[in-house]
Amino acid sequence: MDKKIKDRRITHCLLLPYPAQGHINPILQFSKLLQQQGVKVTLVSTIFYSKNMNKVPSNISFETISDGFDKGGVDEADNYKAYSDSFRKVGTETLSELIEKLDKQDQFKIIEKADWILCNTFYELDKEIADWSIKTWPQFRTVGPNIPSMMFLDKQHKDDEDYCVSQFKSEDCIEWLNDKPKGSVIYVSFGSLASIDEDQMKEIAYGLKNSGNYFLWVVRASEEIKLPKDFEKKSNKGLVVKWCSQIKVLAHESLGCFITHCGWNSTLEALCLGVPLIAMPQLSDQTTNAKYIVDFWKIGIRAKFDEKKIVRQEVLNDCIREILENERGKEIKNNAMQLKNLAMKAINEGGSSHKNIKEFMNDLFPLEPTWPA
Ligand code: UDP
Repeated sequence: MDKKIKDRRITHCLLLPYPAQGHINPILQFSKLLQQQGVKVTLVSTIFYSKNMNKVPSNISFETISDGFDKGGVDEADNYKAYSDSFRKVGTETLSELIEKLDKQDQFKIIEKADWILCNTFYELDKEIADWSIKTWPQFRTVGPNIPSMMFLDKQHKDDEDYCVSQFKSEDCIEWLNDKPKGSVIYVSFGSLASIDEDQMKEIAYGLKNSGNYFLWVVRASEEIKLPKDFEKKSNKGLVVKWCSQIKVLAHESLGCFITHCGWNSTLEALCLGVPLIAMPQLSDQTTNAKYIVDFWKIGIRAKFDEKKIVRQEVLNDCIREILENERGKEIKNNAMQLKNLAMKAINEGGSSHKNIKEFMNDLFPLEPTWPA
């Protein structure tokens, strides 16, 4: 490569998350750390997912690959295995094409060629990408928790207030939260994927209504049909939205507790922002996360389900009272605040995460890079 070009060229990372909010958010957040060190990043998602995504911020390039289901994504496949097999095959082929395209563009637009691929695609492409790679990465370092830093968590990046890329359009609920008393609002969300049983929706709806507390409930458009017919989406006490900026909601001082499915991102966000949890895990790692929340970190309680695997409204009400009114709730809040402080310490200058990301960057992108020829 021409010396002049080599000197001007900056490191370029492709970010390849599984096409779901819970995978895109952490990798994007990690990419912000890379960008702060001068790395160019390109987010790569599937053609189907990109159709529903809101605008990618201008400082992040965007490219697509195919999972073989460009019209309907995972829902277009007969079953998950068919989707996964197709993602592995078509995803690998189209990713190779993308890398070739970027290599070609590199001859004209000096910064396009990809130097690294960072991926968290479950099992789909991770192995294939690792097989391409000639380097192995034997070292292990902890980085994070990586949530948008926000002014109050990490005073260094004042405009880092949200994840930026979302599959759903957020409704503004901060104004609604603004006039609610401190620590009074119950926030309820089951993330971007979980599908809640109709009976369970009914129990949550009446549980929230009958608790007499303020509540903000995220019910995705695809789930709305399961709400009881007579349930008001906006009342004196409650507001139901299709999606919100969860991180801003959790950071709001009116928040009292979070009824959560214990997705890993939701768990980390609540932990970093000192919000007590009521755990209602639904699938995959969520039960393990709930165990950590309740028994290890002691920042929440588990809402127990009955023999039909439904959390009844009375149980939910007991949990809400326990967190918002009882002594145990105060202990839980204290524990949550302690973890929030530890999280801040870890990501701030001199903290473990801050130190590790710098070391990681030095290893990955040494000052005297030897660019691929
Ligand atoms: N989220 C959001 N608005 C909502 C609900 C969720 O921004 O109304 C975000 C939330 O902050 C988290 C992600 O969506 O970063 C959900 O990830 P998680 O791992 O908690 O659950 P998953 O969606 O993977 O089940």
